[in-house]
Amino acid sequence: MKKIFPYKHVIIVVAHADDEALFAGGLMLKYPKVDFTVLVVTQPDKVRIREAKKIQKKYDKLYLTIAMPDIFDKHLDKEILKKRLKQVDKLNPDLIITHNSFGEYGHWHHVDIHNTMTELYKEKAFGKADMWLFGHNTDSDITITGSDLLWRLKKDMISMYKSQLGFVRRFPTRGESYKQFGVRGNEIKR
Ligand SMILES: [Zn+2]
Repeated sequence: MKKIFPYKHVIIVVAHADDEALFAGGLMLKYPKVDFTVLVVTQPDKVRIREAKKIQKKYDKLYLTIAMPDIFDKHLDKEILKKRLKQVDKLNPDLIITHNSFGEYGHWHHVDIHNTMTELYKEKAFGKADMWLFGHNTDSDITITGSDLLWRLKKDMISMYKSQLGFVRRFPTRGESYKQFGVRGNEIKR
């Protein structure tokens, strides 16, 4: 039988706690046996930490942060970001998923992380891990298919960020896609 999703340990590198649910919730829910770690780059406020902890517990995903200051209209410090994101390799992922070059909807922090993660990837900082980018608002070559139930569950997951409801409701909850950025280990079979 062809292995559709060959990865065992996936690291999702996002700027904010909620990006992972918005742009990769479907994937996490579709493959519950895969080990997903969510690395949140900016330091979440107390409310968001509580919300992420509830998600961690309910869905058995590990949430970590490298605690960069979350200042909306300021770029992330490139040097510090690069130094800290290099540590992703120590988590031993076979797939890394992160923001796309547009930052999904243009958020500076998303773009900063995209630039640094792809730069590190090109410098072979992550061993044999493959890399995907979120497909939201960009061309994509991987589509996650699922039943109505899957997308309903994704909506539930997103809704756990109660403090963000006004914002997260603007995003589609049906369907999810990715752009393959780099293949070093497993090639996805479609
Ligand atoms: Zn974000």
